[in-house]
Amino acid sequence: MKQIPPVDLTRQYQLIKEEADSAVLEILNSGRYIGGEAISSFEREFSNYIGVQECVSCNSGTDALFLALLALNIGSGDEVITTPFSFFATAEVITRVGAKPVFVDIDPATFNLDLAQIEQAITAQTKAIIPVHLFGQPMDMTGLMALAKTNQLLVIEDCAQATGAAWGEEKIGSMGDVGCFSFFPTKNLGACGDGGAITTNNLAIAQQMRILKEHGSPERYRHDFVGINSRIDAVQAVILSVKLPYLDHWNQQRHQAAQYYQELLQHVNSLKLPQALPGGISVWNQYTVCVLSSPQNNKRELLQQKLKEKGIIAMIYYPIPLHLQPVYQDLGYHKGQLPAVEQAALEVLSLPMFPGITPAEQEQVAYALKDCLLEI
Ligand SMILES: *Cc1c(COP(=O)(O)O)cnc(C)c1O
Repeated sequence: MKQIPPVDLTRQYQLIKEEADSAVLEILNSGRYIGGEAISSFEREFSNYIGVQECVSCNSGTDALFLALLALNIGSGDEVITTPFSFFATAEVITRVGAKPVFVDIDPATFNLDLAQIEQAITAQTKAIIPVHLFGQPMDMTGLMALAKTNQLLVIEDCAQATGAAWGEEKIGSMGDVGCFSFFPTKNLGACGDGGAITTNNLAIAQQMRILKEHGSPERYRHDFVGINSRIDAVQAVILSVKLPYLDHWNQQRHQAAQYYQELLQHVNSLKLPQALPGGISVWNQYTVCVLSSPQNNKRELLQQKLKEKGIIAMIYYPIPLHLQPVYQDLGYHKGQLPAVEQAALEVLSLPMFPGITPAEQEQVAYALKDCLLEI
């Protein structure tokens, strides 16, 4: 039986192999491996694509978030509201700058922050909100930006899983004060290594981020701040430049695959399928179903195991909500406090999803899922 992996990056590479190979060879032959035209070109192309004035490239999505917080002067004594249902980096950077993460429960229909509950979490110390467009599904940015404006809060969008997603007519990463992107290989626009970018229409913030990512140095060997070293290398930049024109097509393929899963699985009672919110365009970084379970009867783990025996690798993003992570014990959250995210953490299962997954493969996933569900 053929194995179906959660992602297969080799198919994408085969499509762009000639272009990518020659772009990389050109860099290797040039001797210019850090900085230079490859970087500035990609920054220009990416800011055009997102529809913002400025793009600052950096080493990773994590650094993008970290640099954004530093540039916005968020630190000790400040609170930042975010979601407990994300990759750890989203909260880690808040702690890293000395501020306090404040976790607000999610809307189980979208897995994104619940707007109504954000409002209740705002205090005099709240400086910013970090929404995450999880699994490629955009957050309701109309509601969020209105709330931020009323309460004079900054918005830092974590767009790591949603490059190309839109809310209304606008791309995510163009509506908040800054947008933070990751080019980790499995993201919608992935490099062949690490990479990240920050998008903004605020020239002063962009300038500050450029200084901070180069050791706080506005000119060579003069240091005005303590910054970090965070850059994308030229090889990654040219690969991203080759891939960017294909991104919408690949996102469209993900969308078609999501629709086909929907068709194949809609009548399976014990599964809750993901829904796209009206008003937004999801880019389906993950296709994540809920396997209806209870803490006493966790069918999800069993299902994941049985699928694996049939060659299908399904993933759990994320098994432990951030407010219950060991490292955050001293923030004082307890089990049961954020019930929607805790239930999601118990039930989510991400099915194989990548541009180029074939209908036959999706059928194999769906049949296996149905079979396994009968067995458990
Ligand atoms: C991947 C990811 C990050 C971190 O990006 P890296 O490039 O791996 O540092 C941050 N937030 C979310 C939601 C992510 O999925």
